[in-house]
Amino acid sequence: MSGGVPFSESAPLLIYPGLGVYHTTSTSQLVRQATKQRRLCLRLFFAAKSMPCSHWGGMEICYMCEAAATSREHVPPRCIFPRGDEHRKSLITVPNCDVHNSTKSKSDEYLRHVLVCSPGVNETAAQVARESLVPSFERRPHIMETFLTNVRPVTLGTDETGAFTVDVRRFESAVSSIIRGLYFHETGQKLRMKITVLNAAFCTSDLRAAPHLAYIRETERKLPDDYRGANQRAFRYALHYQDDSCGLCRMRFYDGHPIYGVWGGRGLRPPSQRSA
Ligand SMILES: [Zn+2]
Repeated sequence: MSGGVPFSESAPLLIYPGLGVYHTTSTSQLVRQATKQRRLCLRLFFAAKSMPCSHWGGMEICYMCEAAATSREHVPPRCIFPRGDEHRKSLITVPNCDVHNSTKSKSDEYLRHVLVCSPGVNETAAQVARESLVPSFERRPHIMETFLTNVRPVTLGTDETGAFTVDVRRFESAVSSIIRGLYFHETGQKLRMKITVLNAAFCTSDLRAAPHLAYIRETERKLPDDYRGANQRAFRYALHYQDDSCGLCRMRFYDGHPIYGVWGGRGLRPPSQRSA
């Protein structure tokens, strides 16, 4: 045995929980072989050491911080999807802690509110509004006042409707959490970089001023053609990354305008120069 590292019988026990979460054929084959071959087992042990610490020893760590996970959070929030089991099955979840869990519900509601009110969304958005948004406003009128800041009547084409001021910071924070959750779901690693969010629905008047547009255009070509997501009428996403230092996530809610999240990448303008 090379390297002079003592082999311990407990090593396989450490390996299995870490590797098990990947559920890939090759990994499970490796694990099966490992029970027969101690040498390979040792190599696997070193490989497992570079794996996400969130899976070590069977204890899960929150996807946002270093605290022990106490529950699982839906990504995106469950309230985005219409009610009923058929719309909410096989949704993505990630481990989270008490603190991150308890601060979520208000921001999730706000996110849903902005998304279902966005231009160009499909009938699923209307269904969610009917089922959840409108009843919630009726139950708690003070929430409606907060959510519908500066509400005023406007005409869109021939339609009379209303416009309100979006709390962009709040919206972007909720979207960033989703991207961190998706990244964790795909890689098992935390995404710690600052994420810049670009919502095409907010920026249509002058896309040239949008931050990171060149990077998005360039990276768009590398994004997988097919979107992922269990209920794509409500939510779907495509992700491209090299590692946590550089990447792009494109999401579409209710078939509406794409929403991008960008992190890292050479040649990107720093967020302070954003004009959107
Ligand atoms: Zn946490």
